[in-house]
Amino acid sequence: MMTPSEPVALQKPASRVFDILVAGAGPAGLAFASAVTQAMGRGVSIALVDPRPKQRDGRLRTVALAPGSRRLLERIGAWEALAPQAQPILSMSIADGRVRDAVRLEQLRFDAQGDEPLAHMAFNDDLCDALSGAAARLGVETITGAASGLAAGRDMAEVTLEGGERLKARLVVAADGARSALRELADIATVGWDTAMTAIVATIAHERDHAGRAEQHFLPAGPFAILPLRGRFSSIVWNEAPADAQALLALAEEDLLRELEYRFTLKLGALSLASRVAAFPCSFRFARRFIAPRLALLADAAHVVHPLAGQGLNLGLRDVAALAEFVVERLRLGLDPGDAATLAAYQRARRFDVVSSSFGMDALNRIFANDFEPLRAARDFGLRVVDRLAPAKRMLMAEAAGDGRGAPRLLRGEPL
Ligand SMILES: Cc1cc2nc3c(=O)[nH]c(=O)nc-3n(C[C@H](O)[C@H](O)[C@H](O)COP(=O)(O)OP(=O)(O)OC[C@H]3O[C@@H](n4cnc5c(N)ncnc54)[C@H](O)[C@@H]3O)c2cc1C
Repeated sequence: MMTPSEPVALQKPASRVFDILVAGAGPAGLAFASAVTQAMGRGVSIALVDPRPKQRDGRLRTVALAPGSRRLLERIGAWEALAPQAQPILSMSIADGRVRDAVRLEQLRFDAQGDEPLAHMAFNDDLCDALSGAAARLGVETITGAASGLAAGRDMAEVTLEGGERLKARLVVAADGARSALRELADIATVGWDTAMTAIVATIAHERDHAGRAEQHFLPAGPFAILPLRGRFSSIVWNEAPADAQALLALAEEDLLRELEYRFTLKLGALSLASRVAAFPCSFRFARRFIAPRLALLADAAHVVHPLAGQGLNLGLRDVAALAEFVVERLRLGLDPGDAATLAAYQRARRFDVVSSSFGMDALNRIFANDFEPLRAARDFGLRVVDRLAPAKRMLMAEAAGDGRGAPRLLRGEPL
């Protein structure tokens, strides 16, 4: 046994070395690690680090998965487990009106074409379970820990975990969410602003079937979305000014339900809460650069968009598909997956889509969360015109699907 007076050799434990280290086992990190492992098998060493994998939120948060995202999940083997829990969206209606209007006029409507739903709704928890299952089947190594240090060298980057463990990799992927520690450690600034809106989110039970219909009501305070879930349940994303949202959350349950009924209306019968009610500030922010030496930012670590169009995770899965494709191409040629050329190609492929989608969603939100009468009339006219123009509708649907020509292979359902 050692006594305190004996000299102690202070040796730092050696770093473990990987080809790729992914920080963050949220949907983006899990999907990326699975896609690369599936394509490369034993030809790549990859690890996923997260302080608390499988964090659950009690069937509150939901995601709308565009067809391109669904194809990616099918490809990496996560869709089979999720499909029985996912609700297809068969139609989407966009209406404009005021909270107490008995009937709100439908301005624009999209219907599923053939057997391809417009999107699928799923609980975020179920998506993460399906992705964790796929990653485990593929043998992705997971390490419990939080990345708290980053040093990029010429051939490798070294990530230090909070407990002091050091991990080295040729490519570090920051999939550590909107408050990405790695983005800060790499000194990458973000641009954006708070939208002065809070999204109130809850799961609602109703008496009648929703028939797979999603609705977006543009109310003066902001958009109010009703998104169908399996069974007689819908998810709501209810936008209000932050002070109004706080006042609503402070109400007794029956008073909150009455406020909800004004917005949801009683078309699906009596409503009740099927989850807790939570509020999220809506911000709009993206990283000035998506890359740094030996580092790529992925999904929410690179951009956070308004939940208006439910595109947050879809944009993130588009990053996943693009980065996985570049990285696998390099690895197959025996080249370095984290070199400057690979990272630059990823940034070129993703930045325009992300910045244009982010600005588009912010602009839509500003135009619709506005009660100025002439603007209201103009936007309603614009929506009705789009509704009658089949090519314009097809273009909007293809854009939302995210799997058009030029899209990365995984989004088109093709192998890497
Ligand atoms: C109210 C609301 C509604 C939304 N609705 C939709 C919708 O309908 N459709 C849609 O597509 N998107 C939606 N989104 C957005 C969507 O939830 C996010 O885009 C998605 O969760 C991002 O996934 P991610 O993997 O990038 O990050 P996250 O899901 O945030 O995961 C990040 C992971 O990183 C881990 N981590 C954190 N710090 C560290 C660290 N230092 N080291 C290692 N790991 C770390 C965390 O534990 C976590 O597991 C919504 C978001 C909100 C807030």
